[in-house]
Amino acid sequence: MYTMRPAEFDYRHPATLAEAVSMLTELEEARPLAGGHSLLPMMKLRLSTPEALVDLGGIAGLDGIAEDDGGLRIGALATHASVADSELVQARCPVLAETAALIGDLQVRNRGTIGGSVAHADPAADYPTLLKALGAVISAVGRDGEREIAVDEFFIDVFTTALQPGELVLSVRVPSTPTGTGAVYVKHRHPASSYAVVGVAAVVSVEEAACTRAQLTIGGAVRTPVHATAAAEALLGVSGSEEEITDAAGRVAESLPDALGDLYASAEYRVHLATVLAKRACLAAFERASS
Ligand code: FAD
Repeated sequence: MYTMRPAEFDYRHPATLAEAVSMLTELEEARPLAGGHSLLPMMKLRLSTPEALVDLGGIAGLDGIAEDDGGLRIGALATHASVADSELVQARCPVLAETAALIGDLQVRNRGTIGGSVAHADPAADYPTLLKALGAVISAVGRDGEREIAVDEFFIDVFTTALQPGELVLSVRVPSTPTGTGAVYVKHRHPASSYAVVGVAAVVSVEEAACTRAQLTIGGAVRTPVHATAAAEALLGVSGSEEEITDAAGRVAESLPDALGDLYASAEYRVHLATVLAKRACLAAFERASS
């Protein structure tokens, strides 16, 4: 039975990271709270029943966006709106700002955070697909200290990540992209929520009119974002003509043997969408890389 009221929970409001980590370690069934735009709906549906919420909102310095070794470091509490509006992100990694601007609606973007999005690991979320294509690294902190987790090791299954119980996302590091690289994210959005029915990120590097590096990552179609390896390999050496890209995108299905089907979109439709969107993303990424 659906209900709009969460089960009872204790509410904690730490002022420092150390306090938050010790609360999450010591309290039974405690969950961190960031923007609340995924956790609270799940609690209202009683799909999640934490005994305590540890609100990260009072911890200073977790929402910064800074240059990091030519790339970017985005604090876990940076909202989707602040990433979309950041001039630094727009300059260093335009696709990240563009993707943030595609998330949900204004209200969701003003509250939802990058740390909450990656920790939640919703298969229909946008950041996980893009961050996997970009080779991001997640910094986390727990009772055993800080560690870095490569994005390819981070997303394990639906709503499941490599984070240990009580461990917090501190920041997301996006590496610098070499000159001659174009990155694009496109999605087919669910009309009610804007979540990605399927989302595709393409990152290509072009030198002397030939593709030297390609990454194509698909989200929403399977349980976690996946690299469409055969399709990306088919892009290597090509000049980026529509015919070459259509052929490469035709190989996306090889990476989606376990495509998801639900009431909104069958597995076959998701594979079709992934193929169409991969073509669009690659065409646009080649154009960017060559401009
Ligand atoms: P919360 O809801 O606070 O937390 C989510 C989960 O992450 C919880 O398990 C929480 O314990 C954990 N958590 C939070 N922060 C941390 C941290 N720093 N370290 C460890 N664990 C943490 N998303 C999209 O990608 N695309 C969309 O189009 C989209 N549309 C949406 C439409 C609606 C109507 C709504 C309500 C949400 C939508 N979302 C969409 C989800 C939105 O982006 C959420 O904001 C995001 O998924 C979770 O971020 P949050 O800060 O709200 O996290």
